[in-house]
Amino acid sequence: MNAVTLSFKCYVYVCVGCNLMASSERSDVLTCCTRCRVRAHRNGSMKALRELAARPMFRVHPATIQQCAAVQRLRPDLADKLLAGTVELDDIRDEISSAFWSLVWKHVRVSA
Ligand SMILES: [Zn+2]
Repeated sequence: MNAVTLSFKCYVYVCVGCNLMASSERSDVLTCCTRCRVRAHRNGSMKALRELAARPMFRVHPATIQQCAAVQRLRPDLADKLLAGTVELDDIRDEISSAFWSLVWKHVRVSA
């Protein structure tokens, strides 16, 4: 199997609006589209996420939580390492991107 090298930074995250995974070149993105952003604000999920991220036990950017949620879905083995503190999110970004794009590619081929 050939390795795919991504020439851009890719942040995979779970959208707060639709609960699906998406990717962005920006690290602070929380929703996949304008419609999801509006939905997340209206249904309170954006506020709940921001409150969770601001808790003293976390104090992280809300996007970090959504990126960790994507890690849990794509690579539970790496999520365990994140929780144990043996790896950092930045250290596994390429592996998560690869897992995400492999999944996307698999579905593209199935539906084609
Ligand atoms: Zn969305």
